Amino acid sequence: MDYQSGNVSINAENIFPIIKKWLYSEKDIFIREVVSNANDAITKLKKLAAIGEAEIPSDEAWKIEVSVDKEAGTITVFDNGIGMTKEEVEKYINQVAFSGAKDFLEKYQGKADDAQIIGHFGLGFYSTFMVSDKVEIDTKSFTGAPAVHWESETGMEFSMSDSDLDERGTYITMHVSEDSKEYLEAYTLRTTLEKYFSFLPVQLFFVDVNEEVKEEDKDKEPKPLNNPNPLWLKAPKDCTEEEYKEFYRNVFHDYTDPLFWIHLNIDYPFNLKGILYFPKLNNQYDSLEGTIKVYYNQVFVADNIKEILPEFLMLLKGVIDCPDLPLNVSRSFLQNDGYVKKISTHITKKVADKLTGLYNTEKENYCKYWDDINPFVKYGCLKDEKFYDKVKDVLLFKTTKDEYLTLSELPDLNCIYYTDDAVQQAQYIQMLTESDAKVVIMGGPIDNHFMSLMEYKDGGKMKFVRVDSDIAEGMKDQSSAATKEDLEALAGLVTEDFRKMAGNDKLAVKAEAMKSGMPAIILLSEQARRMQEMMKMYGGMGMNFPMGEDDMTLVLNQSNPTVQRLSALKESAPEVYDMAVAQIYDLALLAHQPMDAEGMSRFISRSVEILEKASK
Ligand code: ADP
Ligand code: MG
Repeated sequence: MDYQSGNVSINAENIFPIIKKWLYSEKDIFIREVVSNANDAITKLKKLAAIGEAEIPSDEAWKIEVSVDKEAGTITVFDNGIGMTKEEVEKYINQVAFSGAKDFLEKYQGKADDAQIIGHFGLGFYSTFMVSDKVEIDTKSFTGAPAVHWESETGMEFSMSDSDLDERGTYITMHVSEDSKEYLEAYTLRTTLEKYFSFLPVQLFFVDVNEEVKEEDKDKEPKPLNNPNPLWLKAPKDCTEEEYKEFYRNVFHDYTDPLFWIHLNIDYPFNLKGILYFPKLNNQYDSLEGTIKVYYNQVFVADNIKEILPEFLMLLKGVIDCPDLPLNVSRSFLQNDGYVKKISTHITKKVADKLTGLYNTEKENYCKYWDDINPFVKYGCLKDEKFYDKVKDVLLFKTTKDEYLTLSELPDLNCIYYTDDAVQQAQYIQMLTESDAKVVIMGGPIDNHFMSLMEYKDGGKMKFVRVDSDIAEGMKDQSSAATKEDLEALAGLVTEDFRKMAGNDKLAVKAEAMKSGMPAIILLSEQARRMQEMMKMYGGMGMNFPMGEDDMTLVLNQSNPTVQRLSALKESAPEVYDMAVAQIYDLALLAHQPMDAEGMSRFISRSVEILEKASK
């Protein structure tokens, strides 16, 4: 018997197309909304029971059940929560449920295209119409009032009648429309439920009505698809290492154990719980791409919400549950929300505290982790000045001798030698380390930016110098008797010959007495090289800038016997002299950069020739 029918909302015709368009990309949320309502209904009744306003047995089995019937074309959500009386259906469904949609319209009318509405806008019950040709409610209030049936095809007009439901709770039945029938696939629906409700506080069961239950499974207790007590809600002191690792595996399907983690457990000034994991990178080329799953009262909202998380945090993996989040607002609103900023600041501080704490209490482990966590820490420094200030003292610099040094342990901040390619620059590294200098390894994709940042910070006190850009004092041979005039004379005598040999008439040629056995080395000033690297980056893609030809300096080692004999050879044996010049230059070049094919083949035949001469 129809005892009432009417219109749900005068604005519904206007709202519909806009919401439908937006929902198209976020279709999933209908299920999130209906199951959330079921969860709310149970929470409400639990509360009433707790204050003595409802009589519920203490061992009540609270549950939500989602069933799909592909043959009938329906999805049904049941909960044994508070239920609704006829008056409540009128009030909460016919009036209230649509006011959310109305608010939405008022806020975004005319700008729905560019409003970039966050996928978390709660449209609640109304969203069921986006995937249904018809929605039915059967509900019986905990008060014992007669059960009510409600149905609507359009979301605009409804009819109500008696229901024969005889248990407390609410059934929402959606007759799924043709263009949303993917949700009738048990697998799709189940996966969607798992995505949002893996940690729902109430047991959630999934039933595929058309699936035949095997004889041996008939007596088995059905298993909920959620874990109502996720680890992040437990007190950190009660969680074991294995539990943290297992949770990580379950949530992120990453079977490499995380390095360490931070359990966030904040009650004041806001509520926030969660676990952040520092993942182990499998190799240095592993992409730095983390996932932070954001939950709202144990219901999944979205991954990596830029507006509440510091950007660099998204390189980590973790979960955050933030019941105070103002979620049903637009993106632009979230960004301006002071509260949201506070969350971000707070998390940043916790991460910095963890890093400094580890350094102070488990330095050895911290050094071990550094190879994995350094890109994350550096990225954080680049993105967030406050983070940099907090972790500055625990930034580590790995040397070519596998030491991990802090800034204060580096010998000279004014001249921090680094290598970005330890193989190609091996000769320079050897010369420097023999002279007791430290060489730090800065070969990662982020390191160039990071070095610029550090140089810029602290009023330019820090300076990074690549190993091939200058001669360290310690590399010079202090015992040499060669005077400045001797060195200049030597350079003057051979400069033109080296330029001709190198085919570079701008090549600068100098002489120094050095400890190394190398007859000569090539230097490229740090400044000039960075300039060129920048031009390369911002200049034409694919254009080939000859690297540093113009700014190269060839430094002859006056302590080397062959170099010492050059001037004599030039007089007495010009052929041998030419050969020596070429060989000295090529050796220096080879230690500096990869040789082209032609250069390499010339170098090899000349080397063979020299060997032949030596054996005569
Ligand atoms: P909201 O959940 O934000 O209040 P909804 O549109 O999702 O908005 O739901 C509107 C109202 O309908 C709810 O506030 C609640 O009173 C009622 N309602 C919806 N689903 C249920 C349910 N399963 N059991 C009891 N009441 C419900
Ligand atoms: Mg709701």
